[in-house]
Amino acid sequence: NSPEAAEAVRIITELKDAGFVAVLAGGCVRDALLGRKPKDFDVATDATPESVREVFGKRSTLAFGESFGVIGVLPPRSASTDDSSTKLMPTEVATFRADGNYSDGRRPDSVTYGDAEADAMRRDFTINGMFYDLFESKVVDYVGGMEDLEKGHLRTIGKATQRFEEDKLRMLRAVRFATTLGFSIEYKTFAAIQNHASDISVVSGERIGAEMRRVMTSSASDFGLETLVDTGLSLHIWPQLRSMNWTEYSRAVQATKHRSFEVAMALALFHLPGDSIQCLRFIFNDWKLSVAERRAIEAALTHAETITQCDGLRWSRLQPILIEEDAKIIVATARALAPKSRGVARAARALSGDPDELNPQPLVTGADLIANGMRPGPGFKSILRSIRDDQLDGKLTSREEALKRALQDKP
Ligand code: ATP
Ligand code: MG
Repeated sequence: NSPEAAEAVRIITELKDAGFVAVLAGGCVRDALLGRKPKDFDVATDATPESVREVFGKRSTLAFGESFGVIGVLPPRSASTDDSSTKLMPTEVATFRADGNYSDGRRPDSVTYGDAEADAMRRDFTINGMFYDLFESKVVDYVGGMEDLEKGHLRTIGKATQRFEEDKLRMLRAVRFATTLGFSIEYKTFAAIQNHASDISVVSGERIGAEMRRVMTSSASDFGLETLVDTGLSLHIWPQLRSMNWTEYSRAVQATKHRSFEVAMALALFHLPGDSIQCLRFIFNDWKLSVAERRAIEAALTHAETITQCDGLRWSRLQPILIEEDAKIIVATARALAPKSRGVARAARALSGDPDELNPQPLVTGADLIANGMRPGPGFKSILRSIRDDQLDGKLTSREEALKRALQDKP
């Protein structure tokens, strides 16, 4: 009953009216059955990509991955413009297909169009291999996905060894789904990951980073990282994890409801031995993190402990941290590290209060000092800083006082 779902219904109805078979497929069926909100609604059909483009018109479709038989269908004009708050993404419509050989361990050399059953068989895990037929109101399950969904089991479709040899990314997807859904990885699937773990190195950093973001933003990120170690994948993704202080790290993860990638990464890095900034530098490169992500994680690593101990700290020591761009991340990390700290409570209060109170106009500026006959030079900056600190700490309250102090301290 979301706009995305309604859009998928519209597309399926039009395809059916044109004489084709069309069903919901994969992740959205899984999530709906679990009572979770699907991230997106994918449609699978027996219409070829050309037919899909004919049904919706060339101008309403995008050749997403035409070599894989995937077409993006754009929402109708009116639907996308009359409500600016819900900007709909194109819906992926994929032709039923069977994948050919995989020679590079990442993608099939070729695909051939087939029927729904063949399309189910090429998917990765049984819980991801189901379709939903809207008109019959029934789940179409060729792979035993329903049973595994009920039991909470993650299992490859077909022989695990072969499926991971075909596409190495599936190993990390297994850990991701087990983490985010709280499922257990079935024995043979788990053993196959252990046997092929070192092959994960052929997967691109971007793909690894994307999966790790999903693992780290899960409420069970601690379980996810332990699974990464138990499967042996961590050795090729994040080798330091083996030395994790699991008890303390879990405690921190469970202590926070703040589910950002940056906070989760900072918490993990806090509980690893060694130089965490150095470790972050490797991860930034390997997983292709954004500069903003790295900056926020580094800010949390640098300042979170100060926040946990800031109860007795002068305000002028604390305030510069709280006006940092990443202050929210810093304070959330500090709260997870020390949930009962009075310093954290103080910082959080200041952060959610009046911004002018948090960062008041300076009593004097550099220009004021110059206008009063001071020359910029050594010492100038530190005078300004010390005046600012005294202002923040309430020791200077007027412009006149501040100017007087500056001229006294004049180098
Ligand atoms: P989410 O959207 O929450 O990440 P999802 O299951 O929808 O989960 P997608 O990556 O969107 O995952 O893929 C959609 C579907 O395509 C999956 O449910 C699965 O059936 C299939 N699929 C995706 N990636 C692979 C893969 N590497 N190997 C085999 N099948 C895959
Ligand atoms: Mg999806």
